[in-house]
Parts: sequence; structure tokens; C-alpha cells
Amino acid sequence: MRCSFCEKEAVLRLRHANLRLCPEHVVARVEKEAQKAIHEFRMFAPEEKILVAVSGGKDSLGLWHILTKLGYKADGLYIDLGISEYSRRSREFCQEFARNHGLNLQVLSLQEELGAGLDEIAKALRGEPCAHCGAIKRYLMNRAAWEGGYAALATGHNLDDEAATLLGNTLRWDLEYLARQYPVLPAGPKLVRKVKPLIYVSEREMVAYCLIEGIRYIYEECPHSVGARSIFLKDILNRLEDEAPSTKITFLKSFLRVHHKLPAPKEAELRECPSCGMPTAAEGLCRFCRIKERMAQRAPA
Ligand code: SF4
Ligand SMILES: [Zn+2]
Ligand SMILES: [Zn+2]
Repeated sequence: MRCSFCEKEAVLRLRHANLRLCPEHVVARVEKEAQKAIHEFRMFAPEEKILVAVSGGKDSLGLWHILTKLGYKADGLYIDLGISEYSRRSREFCQEFARNHGLNLQVLSLQEELGAGLDEIAKALRGEPCAHCGAIKRYLMNRAAWEGGYAALATGHNLDDEAATLLGNTLRWDLEYLARQYPVLPAGPKLVRKVKPLIYVSEREMVAYCLIEGIRYIYEECPHSVGARSIFLKDILNRLEDEAPSTKITFLKSFLRVHHKLPAPKEAELRECPSCGMPTAAEGLCRFCRIKERMAQRAPA
């Protein structure tokens, strides 16, 4: 199988783009698609400082690598959730990447921030870990980006992630969530712009990219992701894609074309949290500070 662009042997076939790519052209395509999304959605300018949220997985470490190669000033942020072996290993992959590339990595840990890891927090609050994880991560990512003076916070959501989220939102016709699903979420008072430069890059392309570029990453998923609805939705989309290549990219691009027709999401009135000063829609303490307070009130073990 020959590469669509040169004489070399192809290592990746992308049916949705009708391409066969050699290693060199896999790299060129992934970086071009990321750059295209950055320009198209005006995510950030070359002189702006970006913070990349890294989890140790292929997408976020791959994104950090891509942004650096494209000449952007990108630092990394890793949030240690304290999920035993998984967190220890994923943290090591992030630190190794930063060290090998001479990049700045900031590490925040739930143990230091809240006095306990995610599993303990979930137990104390009587909920599932994932129910608290998203809010805690969003808070810490935004606070770190805000305090560090970054112009944007970039996450590694890829085409498969975005298409699965879109399918989930569409199955519920959740107009509020659909209106909020966009590759750029604008900045607000003490809220840093959120961007997703990999929306046009598929999971398979990211695996190949990391392999070719020698990026070592954690293969395991978070243990709490077992049985997650997003995995089920991705599986459905993969089956559709097998039958009709380009289902995912067409689904996402068609949505983005009509996104402006959706009713604007309700703007929550934001106040400053009396404890940390970060924005919150809640009366009184923000959710993060409420969790912190609850954890501090725990009876000592
Ligand atoms: S699967 Fe893991 S990382 Fe994802 S939301 Fe749940 S606890 Fe957090
Ligand atoms: Zn080639
Ligand atoms: Zn607060």
C-alpha cells in the first residue's frame, strides 16, 4: 500500500479522508489538521501563552508535542487525582515528556488541594468519583490558567471524543449542552478561554502520530471509566464508521456549520466565591471550596 502523497509505504489508511499515509505524511496531516482548527476557530495567536491540560494519555501529550512543534508557547498542567497506581503512572509519563522536551509542567494534586484523593472525596461526599472529578478538574485547570496569565487552556479532545459527546447531546436533544459544545469557549471574568485543537484528528491518527513521534504515553484508561456512556457511544460511532466512512467527521462538521442557529445558552450570573475569589454561579462558596470545607470537617480517621 503506497502513500497517497509520496512513494513510501503507507502505515495508516484513513478511509474517511480517502488517504493512505506513510509515517512522514501521518505527522504532516495531524499537525496540519490541528493548525487548521486553531486558525478556523481563532483559538490563539502565535505570541500567546497556552496551558495544555495533560493526563498522560496520547491525545493530551500528542497535543502538547504538536503545539510545541508548530512554534506555540505551551506549558503543561497535570492534575494528580490520587487514583492509586493509575495516577502515579500517568504523572510519570507527563513528567518524562516534559523533561525530555525541556518543557514546563505544573503539577497540582487533589491530596494537596483538598486533603484527599478522588476516591476518598467521592466516599466522603457519597457520590461516584466521576460526578465530582469533572467539576474539580475544571476548577483547577481554570484557576491555574488564570493565575499563570495564560491566554487559553487547551485540552486534547479528539474527533472521536467530540462526535461521541455530540451524539450523546443529540440523543437527548439537549439544546443547552449542544449550544455549549464548541471548539472554543470564550473567556469571561477570571475565566480563561478553552480550546480543543484536535477536533479534526481521529483517535487512530493520534495513536499513529504518538508512535511515529516517539511519544510515550499511558495506555490504560482511568479505572473509573469502565462502563462509561462515552465508551458505549464511541463504539456505536465506530460501527457506523465501518459501514459508512466519514460518518464522524461529517456529523461533527455539519453540526459546527449550523451551531450558530442554536439558541444562545443561558448565561448564569457569576459572583466571586467569598473564599477563593474565583467565579461561581452558586450563592456563597463555589463548589470546589464547598468540597474543601466538607473534607476539612471530616472526622479524623
Ligand atoms: S473516568 Fe476518571 S478521569 Fe474521567 S471523570 Fe471519571 S474519575 Fe475523572
Ligand atoms: Zn508519504
Ligand atoms: Zn471558591
